[in-house]
Amino acid sequence: MQTLSLPLSNLLRNKESFKRLITHFKYLHTRSGTWSVNSSTSWTRRSWGPKCVLVSRRQGPLGQLTAGNMCTSSGDDKTSWLWSVYNETKQRTLDLIPVISSNFVNPDTIFANNQMSLQDIEIYGFDYDYTLAFYSSHLHTLIFNIARDILIEEHRYPEGLREYDYIPNFVIRGLHYDVQKALLMKIDAFHYIQLGTVYRGLNPVPEKEVIAMYEGSHVPLEIMSDFYGKSSHGHTMKQFMDIFSLPEMTLLSCVNDYFLKHNIDYEPVHLYKDVKEAIGDVHVRGIMYRAVEADIEKYICYGEQTHAVLQKLSKMGKKMFLITNSPFDFVDRGMNYIVGKDWQDLFDVVIVQADKPGFFNDRRKPFRRVTDKGVLLWDRIHHLEKGQIYKQGNLYEFLRLTGWRGSKVLYFGDHIYSDLADLTLKHGWRTGAIIPELRKEIKIMNTEEYVHTMTWLQALTGLLEQMQVHQDPASQTVIQQWISEREDMRLRTKDIFNGKFGSLFRTYHNPTYFSRRLSRFADIYMASLSCLLNYDLQHTFYPRRTPLQHESPIWPEETSFQSHRTTAGSQRET
Ligand SMILES: [Mg+2]
Repeated sequence: MQTLSLPLSNLLRNKESFKRLITHFKYLHTRSGTWSVNSSTSWTRRSWGPKCVLVSRRQGPLGQLTAGNMCTSSGDDKTSWLWSVYNETKQRTLDLIPVISSNFVNPDTIFANNQMSLQDIEIYGFDYDYTLAFYSSHLHTLIFNIARDILIEEHRYPEGLREYDYIPNFVIRGLHYDVQKALLMKIDAFHYIQLGTVYRGLNPVPEKEVIAMYEGSHVPLEIMSDFYGKSSHGHTMKQFMDIFSLPEMTLLSCVNDYFLKHNIDYEPVHLYKDVKEAIGDVHVRGIMYRAVEADIEKYICYGEQTHAVLQKLSKMGKKMFLITNSPFDFVDRGMNYIVGKDWQDLFDVVIVQADKPGFFNDRRKPFRRVTDKGVLLWDRIHHLEKGQIYKQGNLYEFLRLTGWRGSKVLYFGDHIYSDLADLTLKHGWRTGAIIPELRKEIKIMNTEEYVHTMTWLQALTGLLEQMQVHQDPASQTVIQQWISEREDMRLRTKDIFNGKFGSLFRTYHNPTYFSRRLSRFADIYMASLSCLLNYDLQHTFYPRRTPLQHESPIWPEETSFQSHRTTAGSQRET
């Protein structure tokens, strides 16, 4: 596989090119605030700098930033000067692109939000669905179809809904749904709606209408869903954090679309509850479990590498446990397929139907043992034994019986709230998030098109920041053209990930609501467990020291820029 480390020569080349761009921006940063220009100056490419009479922005109070108005030059001179700076910046950015493009991010990297050493981890815990077991896209179609038919046959929804099929890639994880307004949307880390990503049914809602409905684009805390992303009384925004919720969001959109198209009056809250119930029934009644068990090769992606990870940990003498909400039969069939019939030998404790996140909070539910025939036994549990299957229980009892406490335990799960939030906030276990979408997004970020657009977008944004002080009409005409170009590029960098909702991780430059939760609740995150195969079990994950807004960007930006394109700092070659 591609080595994860960056060759020294590449690093040096990268640093040199990046230094040139940084020097260029530092020059703009310190020189664009207040200036005047000799009207007789003739501007030529790459000669704009020295011919200005310049006063550093840092030499005076902020009030001096309006000094662009003091310019004594003609409008034509100002226009030429601004375009010459633009062209110079663009050229320097273009020079950098081949170097950046050569330093792609390896999709098999493990990324760190928090420093963590595998050397300290003695016990590894796992969720099952979308952590140990990965499903093909057929599963989403299956869930969608069954829930749609339940709505028609049991909730008496119109037969016409059968015309709707599952729409792959219509939605992304982490979206919010306004239950009362029947709107699906993406919200950023600061509770702002990303305009252009609000959908009623299958159609976008015009920005003006969104702004009128929400009196802007900010969503107040009191109508956001609760800590675990669920809506409850008074909360109208439900966040969908589960990979299983992709068919649920799509079904909600299709049913809304049908009612809107046919001018049928309906109560959005009831529609939401009916769809939620129908989707829940697909799981609770065991319909999905039976379908997957009946055709396992169609629905489960063979997990050769998952098996290799578990064997690697076992060989190194690590303890392992499984805590899943799924029933034993379902897990057993899947693990037989992925690992083999002796899969239970790898695990010290297996807990099924755990009812997470309640499992991490509720102290009352006792553990029950389940026989391999699925019979529930009522004996009081004094030990959690290897080779046995346990049901329900709670984490407090789990900690008491195993003694597996604190930062020597690392638990992996794909649900940021149900799997990871309580563990990191209340119990001090280390946490690893499995985010399968990472692989696709990183591959897009590694394309030349994306690198080109994003690099120039950053450079142009820097240019706008520095040149906004020039308020005269000629300068403002140029600056408005730059703003339009920037808007076009921002849209392109959104659409390249998903035409409707963009990236899972960003709303333009801001992190998404999902991203912020991910960085808060997960010590490390990765596309799949197989990424662990690239690291030895002594490895320490170091988060990048990205500069805070008030910190000097000079050195950290150079290094962080470089490491954006590569991988976690000190990985070993495999
Ligand atoms: Mg899961």
